[in-house]
Amino acid sequence: MFKKLSIALIAMLCAGKIAIAQQPCGTDKKYWELVQQNPKILEYEKQFEDQIIANMQYRIPGALGKTTLSASDTTTFDVPIVIHVVHDYGTENLSDNDLYEAAQYWAIVFLAQNSDTAAVIPPFKKWIGNSRIRLHLATIDPNGKPTKGIVRHNHYLTTNADDGAKFEPWPNNKYINIWFVRTFGASATGAAAYAYYPASAAGMPFYDGVIGLSTYANYAKAIPHELGHVLNLQHVWGNTNSAGAACGDDHVDDTPPTTGHTPVGCVASALYDVACASGYLKHYTAAGGGDSVVDYPDTVNAQNIMDYTYCQEMFTKGQCVRMRTALTSTVAGRNNLITAANLASTGALAPMPDLPPVADYIMDRGTGGGFVSDTRSYFLTFNNTNGFVFRNASWNDTVTGVKWSFSNGATVPTSTSMTSVVNHFATPGWVTVTQIATSNAGSDTLVNTKAVYVADTTATHGVGYVQGFDLANCSNWPMINFYNNRFKWEFFNGASFDGDGKCVRYRSFDTTNQQTGMALGDHDDFYTPAFNLTDIAGSGNYFLNFFTSGCKRPGGGTMDSLEIDASITGGTQWTRIGGVSGNTLANITATNAQFTPTLPSQWKARAINIPAAYRTGNVFFRFRYWPGDIGNNLYLDNFYIYPYPSEVMDQTADAGIFKIFPNPANSGCNIIFKTGNEGTAAITVKDITGRTIYTVSNHYNANGMAQETIGRDITQAAGIYFVTVVIDGASRTEKLVVY
Ligand SMILES: [Zn+2]
Repeated sequence: MFKKLSIALIAMLCAGKIAIAQQPCGTDKKYWELVQQNPKILEYEKQFEDQIIANMQYRIPGALGKTTLSASDTTTFDVPIVIHVVHDYGTENLSDNDLYEAAQYWAIVFLAQNSDTAAVIPPFKKWIGNSRIRLHLATIDPNGKPTKGIVRHNHYLTTNADDGAKFEPWPNNKYINIWFVRTFGASATGAAAYAYYPASAAGMPFYDGVIGLSTYANYAKAIPHELGHVLNLQHVWGNTNSAGAACGDDHVDDTPPTTGHTPVGCVASALYDVACASGYLKHYTAAGGGDSVVDYPDTVNAQNIMDYTYCQEMFTKGQCVRMRTALTSTVAGRNNLITAANLASTGALAPMPDLPPVADYIMDRGTGGGFVSDTRSYFLTFNNTNGFVFRNASWNDTVTGVKWSFSNGATVPTSTSMTSVVNHFATPGWVTVTQIATSNAGSDTLVNTKAVYVADTTATHGVGYVQGFDLANCSNWPMINFYNNRFKWEFFNGASFDGDGKCVRYRSFDTTNQQTGMALGDHDDFYTPAFNLTDIAGSGNYFLNFFTSGCKRPGGGTMDSLEIDASITGGTQWTRIGGVSGNTLANITATNAQFTPTLPSQWKARAINIPAAYRTGNVFFRFRYWPGDIGNNLYLDNFYIYPYPSEVMDQTADAGIFKIFPNPANSGCNIIFKTGNEGTAAITVKDITGRTIYTVSNHYNANGMAQETIGRDITQAAGIYFVTVVIDGASRTEKLVVY
């Protein structure tokens, strides 16, 4: 059952005057965007408006009481609602009790039982409307399972929210869906919340409902305002988002014409604003003869919930008729919400069931560099004592006990408190966390088999290491899919740079044509094993090399990027050492089809000079991918650590072509080439006068990579030299610049 309105809630309401900088509502911005895309909405609306007028005339014979509820209309309309919390374990993850309190308050407002109706100014007292619409959290979900009317979705889109964050809507003709998020993205920037009118929602039922910032769940009348839109109310000045601009009307007679107000609070200039309302009256004619005049207040209704004042205290009687008419209209299936059959199937009138909790936790780093942003998965070396705190975040019931257990030699094998501290994991591999949350109504068990990857610190010799992502030897290259979604790293069998048909890919392409859960905002990692790079600690350039083949889809938007990081602290801290992004990463022409490379020429060489600080005995590298919103797949192959960038190796892949690196050179250079069938090569260096100053002739492995060093002792004077390489009888000359 709902808790009684608490002191905390009242405090929230009183504090309600602080955040008025926020645009209260983005409904009409969204509405006009939609109308532009689909002008038919205006037709639906006209039909709807006719239906409303007809309905009102039918209900109120003689049309005299057009703005009042008919005395005979005493029916209560019950409406099931469901709250979706889209969160990333931040403060937006509102508690069940906060949401019950909020929902109770919305219900109170729709019955005009909110105590601040006492502050309504005298001219409007008699126009305060009781909609007789009762809001109920559903107790049965769309699958027939018991529910408390709150569901939660862990997703990055809580910080870039719009329609795409409206996860798993329940059928809009059975429930009114209300989503809460942390922040809106660009399309709803600055809005506290928005909703769709029934005529708009009719064409896209999956986006129907209210979406709002979690901080507005119980702030002033933010949600009753949006529910007003869901039930076809416009702003008191009409369907624009520009309060205070021009006199306008909302098709409701007992809300006088007004410009509306910005969030100014309950100030006299708003309460007694007569700008558009002076001498406002309506002349009604009744069918079959007779007419009348109703003299409405000559000041605007700044305390109306559909104004922006944040002095919102009432709906009018006319607005209540309009909302009730929406609930008897077939537009967007609103009339089904209130049927006896729907109330039974959603359990709207049943008492809230007592249900077991849903086990959930967040993971913090216990000490050191503060909290980690990745609350569900983490990479750390074994015996790393920079420990973890596992913190209970179960919901759906008051949890009375939590039992934890951990694999991989955790030093706290079992704990029974709300938090559990694990100092270190002693065994390499993936850690399984088991959490059992218990309440009076039962228990729930959560098993996460990929909570932490414990990396082995036994370092592989880095120089000369080659990883072609042959599927047999990648077990120490862990991948983390933080949100357990379709955008992720994966080992891929079906494309390669090196011809073995195997590589790694980031699956950025979305095959689902989904309405929710866009890629932008996600990130995913894969990690190398530990490398020992001490033997190049004092060397010159040394490169982390790999090849990529990437693509995007046509159209603008934020593009994918790949970030490469290094850690010499066993995963405690990571430092960015390089990255590839935008059109550089997407080296293949955009296509709407899912991209898979088929030719060697579709691959691009990448090289990152390994900073001296990371040439230690135990360094890890991390590939972190940030998908954009028009993504296609990215493939990565042939990781190796070498003194030359992979571009050089790439360009010398054909026999007969060689590369001088570096060039210009100051302290010697290398001649890198691919040998031919015979494996013979001769190198000649001439100075600017044509004098031969160096020759070398050798037999090498046939059809392999080879190199020779030309030291500064050979090219002693700064200037231009000519290097000729003869491979299997074919000759080629390149210029070398020494400075
Ligand atoms: Zn609004």
